[in-house]
Amino acid sequence: MSSYHITLLAGDGIGPEITAVARRLLEVVAQQHNFSLSFDPQPVGGAAIDATGEPLPASTLSACRGADAVLLAAIGGPQYDNLPRAKRPESGLLALRSGMELFANLRPVKIVPALIGASTLREEVISGVDLMVVRELTGGIYFGQPKGRVTSESGEERGFNTMTYSSSEIDRIARVGFDLAVQRSGRLCSVDKANVLDVSQLWRERVDAMASDYSGVEVSHMYVDNAAMQLVRAPRQFDVLLTGNLFGDILSDEAAMLTGSIGMLPSASLGSEGPGLFEPVHGSAPDIAGQDKANPLAMVLSAAMMLRIGLKQEAAAASLEKAVDAVLAQGLRTGDLMAEGCTAVGCQAMGDALLKALG
Ligand code: NAD
Repeated sequence: MSSYHITLLAGDGIGPEITAVARRLLEVVAQQHNFSLSFDPQPVGGAAIDATGEPLPASTLSACRGADAVLLAAIGGPQYDNLPRAKRPESGLLALRSGMELFANLRPVKIVPALIGASTLREEVISGVDLMVVRELTGGIYFGQPKGRVTSESGEERGFNTMTYSSSEIDRIARVGFDLAVQRSGRLCSVDKANVLDVSQLWRERVDAMASDYSGVEVSHMYVDNAAMQLVRAPRQFDVLLTGNLFGDILSDEAAMLTGSIGMLPSASLGSEGPGLFEPVHGSAPDIAGQDKANPLAMVLSAAMMLRIGLKQEAAAASLEKAVDAVLAQGLRTGDLMAEGCTAVGCQAMGDALLKALG
């Protein structure tokens, strides 16, 4: 029987509540699919500051690096906002991502039929949308050198950043995109600005070169301005959307809003080797922490991504996703999703309903 070691980072705010739900479900789904999971809870963010004075203790980072996968809820809270930047919970999260060398950020955007009314877009535009944004996370214009600000002798100020990608940086993120396209419907759209930017021309050439390794994948290219428009005009045309750091930052938020609901969105961050980090897109929601009001579904869907991508347990991942669809189809809603005619439930009751749906 396969067994996997999971480092569990509950973090702050609603983190412990939604982590408890995900853990119960993971234990059951593992049993149902004949593998075992062991959990190693570690402090991160504000919880780690309270315990050790540091937002990312060395012991937490080393537990994450040594795991088969890392499941994180969320970090942060107003009580830490006045700490020096390096000591804040958010710095712990950035240090975790860079310490685990996570260069690929994956955000699936899937419309749940029961929640279609939550989107700001019309039903006929968004029904059936099921896409994955693959964003490069550790390169591009956010990190390129030179960057800075200078003032000329005449007093004119200038700010500058450099958008740079090496062929190896492009190849490693492109491979993540192609591999995902193989697992999904076999379509990959690479987004760039190759009509203007040299760095995008290299990006396009490397993606085309990699296409010869993946004969089953249909590759297309799109300029980023057109992609931004197409995402709200006809989002069903996309399956895997592969792009760099800056374009991905913008497009992944735009794509996320197709669903209309932050409490539903999971994500994964992956490196070349070593474990991936799986976490909901939302934050620690301090305004509702400890009140049994949190929506645990993004966390549960992040756990499903961990099973599928991190542990290659596709059937178990699909079971968790089916349970999420089932509770929503039953009309159960936490406060953030509440709509007329539905039944209001708290975080724990949602967890109980998910367990029941798992069977
Ligand atoms: P947030 O996502 O925590 O909350 C925004 C709004 O959405 C709040 O009204 C909150 O109640 C609601 N919400 C979020 N998740 C929910 C859930 N699962 N169920 C029900 N309602 C939910 O964003 P924020 O308020 O800007 O930030 C709060 C804290 O979280 C800050 O300290 C911020 O730095 C941190 N944060 C952490 C992460 C992370 O850990 N990856 C991401 C974003 C923000």
